[in-house]
Amino acid sequence: MPAIKLATWNINSVRLRSRLVGRFLKKHAPDVLCLQEIKVTDDLFPAARYRALGYVHQAVKGQKGYHGVAILSRLPFRTTSALSFCGKEDSRHMSVVFESGVELHNFYVPAGGDIPDPKLNPKFAHKLDFLREMEPDSRRRLLTALGVLSPAHVQILMQCLNGTATMLVSQPTIRTLSRIGLIDRVHSESAARKVLEKLVDPEDLWAFQSLLTQHGEEICQSKSPRCGDCAIVALCKFKRKVGTGGDE
Ligand code: SF4
Repeated sequence: MPAIKLATWNINSVRLRSRLVGRFLKKHAPDVLCLQEIKVTDDLFPAARYRALGYVHQAVKGQKGYHGVAILSRLPFRTTSALSFCGKEDSRHMSVVFESGVELHNFYVPAGGDIPDPKLNPKFAHKLDFLREMEPDSRRRLLTALGVLSPAHVQILMQCLNGTATMLVSQPTIRTLSRIGLIDRVHSESAARKVLEKLVDPEDLWAFQSLLTQHGEEICQSKSPRCGDCAIVALCKFKRKVGTGGDE
């Protein structure tokens, strides 16, 4: 995927600084420029000026006198969309998907005022609410877009980031626990979690499960367990069945 040269600028009125934006585009020639606080309605956005400079692809979410965001691009968009946050119709978000599949979100997050206390300062409360609302969606999209994590792992990471993590026991862990007789049924995720929580210090739980997962993937494999290489063979009730095709 080719690199994209991206610039972002809180312009605080695009009409007041329209020429400045033009000079910036000529001098630095980003592929994409994200603007925040454009403070203008869509119909009064100086689109023609930037189109003449090659920024023919534009996604604008304006608002009279306040807020507003815009994305100027030399690269074509596949789609554009805008979200609302905190039940307000103010213009604080615009996203585009480029033809390459890259997704870009342009946010104008509430400034929050001077007093960093949501009880004393409604603007700060709004900022916190906005961040809370935007984070799960943008984090989830980012983690999913990386393409290296399964939905279950994205979910776990999201829970960690939100401070609400509960361990999801992996299938290789469940398989190993079943074969060494600590749980009755192979696909019992809740039983496996209970056993682990009973056996292992909470601080070591994630690391322990990670090791068991690795063991299940590399040694105690579903169809052909490598019992000859297994460090816990002495504990195992399943080893006698080795070579008979496993239990799944
Ligand atoms: S002895 Fe074989 S079946 Fe038992 S835990 Fe080890 S690898 Fe798995």
